[in-house]
Amino acid sequence: METIAAADEVVGICRDLLRIDTTNTGDPRTTVGERVAAEYVAAQLGEVGIDAELMESAPKRANLVARIPGADRSRGALLLHGHLDVVPADASEWSVDPFSGEEKDGYLWGRGAIDMKDFDAMMLAVVRDWARTGYVPPRDIVLCYTADEEAGMQYGSQWLVDNHRDLFEGCTEAIGEVGGYSYTVNDDLRLYLVQTAEKGLDWLRLHATGRPGHGSFIHDDNAVTNLADAVARVGHHRFPTVVTPTVRAFLEQVGDALGIDIDPANPEQAIAKLGPIANLIGATIRNTANPTRLEAGYKDNVIPGRASATIDCRTLPGEADGFLATLRELIGPDIEIEHVHQQPAVETSFDGALVDAMGAALRAEDPGARTVPYLMSGGTDAKAFATLGIRCFGFAPLKLPADLNFASLFHGIDERVPVDGLKFGVRVLDRLLRNS
Ligand SMILES: [Zn+2]
Repeated sequence: METIAAADEVVGICRDLLRIDTTNTGDPRTTVGERVAAEYVAAQLGEVGIDAELMESAPKRANLVARIPGADRSRGALLLHGHLDVVPADASEWSVDPFSGEEKDGYLWGRGAIDMKDFDAMMLAVVRDWARTGYVPPRDIVLCYTADEEAGMQYGSQWLVDNHRDLFEGCTEAIGEVGGYSYTVNDDLRLYLVQTAEKGLDWLRLHATGRPGHGSFIHDDNAVTNLADAVARVGHHRFPTVVTPTVRAFLEQVGDALGIDIDPANPEQAIAKLGPIANLIGATIRNTANPTRLEAGYKDNVIPGRASATIDCRTLPGEADGFLATLRELIGPDIEIEHVHQQPAVETSFDGALVDAMGAALRAEDPGARTVPYLMSGGTDAKAFATLGIRCFGFAPLKLPADLNFASLFHGIDERVPVDGLKFGVRVLDRLLRNS
């Protein structure tokens, strides 16, 4: 196995990043560390002569962008992006201090170890190695470190896209989370899931009105009852399955790799045959609408004039309009719908030179590697960057132990990344970038 300087360095960089608490609570008053982490990245880049621009979207909400000129500047640039914030961790639930960056049992432990300070560190390690050895990549590489991915992106990628789109000039493709990690089929075959699509998000608030009144009277126009009827209809509705191009490709290719007969026309049955990966994609074959909040009333014996509820809706690429029409029907004409927060679904095709280079870079390091596209039910910074017309991929390469329940580590207790996997990722990333 070839060793490169970046593979030696990546573990230390990842540990440093894990030790910087960048908890994003969703409340700017209690969100910490993003500025410190961005300054750390800037210093690491500065040390090898790479200038970076550090920008605050709000006090301490720092984002950082650097451009590394490529050999052929007429080609489209490749954006590499990672968020520096993490979700909160309750130390009492963990077996180690979540911000200690402790290394034990072959893993680096800490909040953000796989989401996504691992990839943040890989990017840094690769470009530092290049700068020290004078290597010039084939085309421009734009490095971007963001704040606020974990709580809506308005202080991070969305803010950058709205206010500094010039920094992404010429970027045609982007690589970020969540993908590139292995799922072991057997000793000779590992599937590496590359994210090519994300569901859209639409947080709706329903507002019902009625006639206010005393709780002791007969009352036929109660806002709470009107709202509850609509919420129950939405909550009980099961949207039909829809197989998008990405999910179809995923099912066909995984079925082929596993040697099982999969019928994309019957996606539920197909997914049930997939074992542990079923979890990951179970929600990617239908739109969903889950009621999450209810608000009404101020006194036990007063019927309020208004009541409201929040519905967390997730839509498949190309499905938003039809979905909304169905929802409108379920909710009924008398209830007002407010769109609180919307992010469109994104999808790109699984083809082209960059996709081929991903597969080749993986196979060079793992002869049993096979790439498979997938659609993610959640969202990432890719949603913001895709609005610039950039093709976005989730590819933060990691070779994982066969028995690791990787999906449960995202935002989970005892989040950790295998040290060998991290070094593997750096080698794959370095190889990919040199050949793309
Ligand atoms: Zn993430």
